[in-house]
Amino acid sequence: MGFLARLVNKFISPAPTSAQSGIQVTKDAVWVYLQCDKCGERLALRLRKSSEIQREDDGSHDYQMFINKTVIGNDCFNRMQLRLEFDGMYRVVNKQLENGTFITKDEYEDANLQGITR
Ligand SMILES: [Zn+2]
Repeated sequence: MGFLARLVNKFISPAPTSAQSGIQVTKDAVWVYLQCDKCGERLALRLRKSSEIQREDDGSHDYQMFINKTVIGNDCFNRMQLRLEFDGMYRVVNKQLENGTFITKDEYEDANLQGITR
């Protein structure tokens, strides 16, 4: 548990359910689930590893890859600034989101099941 606890402590926003809350890494993509702070819209973002992830290989950081992205939803013009940092195994070591909140995949799918209109 020691390693996991240290990993969790590195997250800026608290992760209530799991360290990877809000982010799922698949073979070729990174899925991010988030909610707009302004209008409450919930979004699922698919970031392709091949094109979205940038490398930071000079060894002076505790991450090796990162994503910077401005996210704009469908319901308003709130600009959410997303930053994710990964180690060499595509594990998230740091995540930040301005003007938005990370949610879990379950929360995203629940919102869709309830038929929230766009
Ligand atoms: Zn919004």
